[in-house]
Amino acid sequence: MSGVYGKVTPEVVAELRQKIGDRNVVYEDRDALENYACDTAGVIFAHNPDAVVKPENAEQVSAVMETASRYRVPVTPRGAGSGLAGAAIPVKGGIVLSIEKMNRILEIDPVNRVAVVEPGVVTNDLCKAAAEKGFLYAGYPMSTETSFIGGNVGTNAGGGKVIRYGSTRRHVLGLEVVLPSGAVVQLGGKFRKDTWGYSLLQLMVGSEGTLGVITKVIVNLEPLPGRTVNLLAAYPDLDTMVSTVAKVVQSGTRVISCEFFDRFATKVTTDYVGTPLPYQDRTEAYLLIQIEGNNDDEIEAAYEKVGKICEAQGAFEVFVAESRIDSQMIWNVRQNLAEGMRAYDPYCSLSGDVVVPLSAVPSMIKTINRLAEKWRVPVGNCGHIADGNIHPLAAKPDGMPPEEWGEYAEQFFHEMIEEAVKLGGVGSGEHGVGFLKLPTLLSTKTPEERRIHRAIKLAFDPLEIMNPGKLVQGE
Ligand SMILES: Cc1cc2nc3c(=O)[nH]c(=O)nc-3n(C[C@H](O)[C@H](O)[C@H](O)COP(=O)(O)OP(=O)(O)OC[C@H]3O[C@@H](n4cnc5c(N)ncnc54)[C@H](O)[C@@H]3O)c2cc1C
Repeated sequence: MSGVYGKVTPEVVAELRQKIGDRNVVYEDRDALENYACDTAGVIFAHNPDAVVKPENAEQVSAVMETASRYRVPVTPRGAGSGLAGAAIPVKGGIVLSIEKMNRILEIDPVNRVAVVEPGVVTNDLCKAAAEKGFLYAGYPMSTETSFIGGNVGTNAGGGKVIRYGSTRRHVLGLEVVLPSGAVVQLGGKFRKDTWGYSLLQLMVGSEGTLGVITKVIVNLEPLPGRTVNLLAAYPDLDTMVSTVAKVVQSGTRVISCEFFDRFATKVTTDYVGTPLPYQDRTEAYLLIQIEGNNDDEIEAAYEKVGKICEAQGAFEVFVAESRIDSQMIWNVRQNLAEGMRAYDPYCSLSGDVVVPLSAVPSMIKTINRLAEKWRVPVGNCGHIADGNIHPLAAKPDGMPPEEWGEYAEQFFHEMIEEAVKLGGVGSGEHGVGFLKLPTLLSTKTPEERRIHRAIKLAFDPLEIMNPGKLVQGE
């Protein structure tokens, strides 16, 4: 498809208002539109939409898409805007389709062990509703209190429980999707097996709003874990910390989380939250391990076993957080690393998200630190280390004008991703591609892979109106 996109004219707006109601269309209100101009990648990447629509149900989403495709106006679906790759930023203007009003938990179905929800449900609200009925929704991005489940599906969110339960892809059993034409399709359902053709369901997961709008989500629920305990192992250097991870994961205990954070990330975050961590002055890197057990005896045996492994690998102390308060104190630091770095530097880029095989993590961390020196970028490292997933949180170098920083940071990450690929990894484990990582994605995929990506895009979205400028090469 070639040619330019259509504009959001007063005629288009009048049609949208007539279809979904005045109250659900924002137009010519600069302040209100600015609220939808960027995600958590940062305001330096903002692009204002021409209009924002807030449909209340799938029929309204379908009506919006029918108008948008007739006028060939770009549409960017938006969840909570907590994304870190600029995926929800309307880089070509047009319409932002916010799913914030579609926020009902429709059903917790204990027989089929699923939840059926609208996409605007906050992830943590789904977790709480499932827990009330004795189930676990196992998706756990560190943004769980802000992100929406639709955004989690859009990005194939990972997080702190992937080592045990997998990324969002593993939890999604069914989706209702409005295609760019306005047609509504049901993919998957309340079942766990499906060999009935290509999995269009799984293609939607992680598609970053480039294929259609998700209007309903059916997710798998797990039994609630028994008791959990959190261990904080303190290490004198990164290498010994990393050497522990494979041994812990293979220890035969039920490890739910295995997270790490380095000295710099810990320092700025504990300054921010106001509570230091145990042994902080001597620690180069922490490993935070959460283990599950059915009863007190099992949990005690598990944490003793894991604690011994940590010490044998070089941890100089292992703090066992048995009380809720201690556990909260530790997880509060883990969950606030991004905020801590943003408090240290409001321009801090949070988009670093490389993944490598676990065996290559020590080399990757060394490479990140070498590149940080070369590019003069202060970096705090953290991540879901058992998944090989490292988040280098990159602060703006002193004295650099903010308007130069966005591109500089992405060049820095570009070189880092090339190194990750050489180590057998990829450029993003969970934050996605958005528009920030698109040039790097294209340069690290083969021509055949790029051709197939584009063919899939065009099969869903022949007019290329869905979130243009993201994930796949545009026209
Ligand atoms: C402090 C912090 C910690 C974070 N920790 C993690 C983490 O541990 N793991 C992780 O994976 N991410 C993490 N993130 C990133 C972010 O929270 C996730 O990417 C999240 O899944 C985005 O959800 P959202 O609702 O904010 O989506 P948005 O940012 O609004 O959108 C993300 C993408 O999904 C698409 N999308 C949204 N809704 C729909 C829909 N209904 N239909 C089709 N497409 C849609 C958008 O077009 C966009 O491409 C973190 C972010 C922050 C700020």
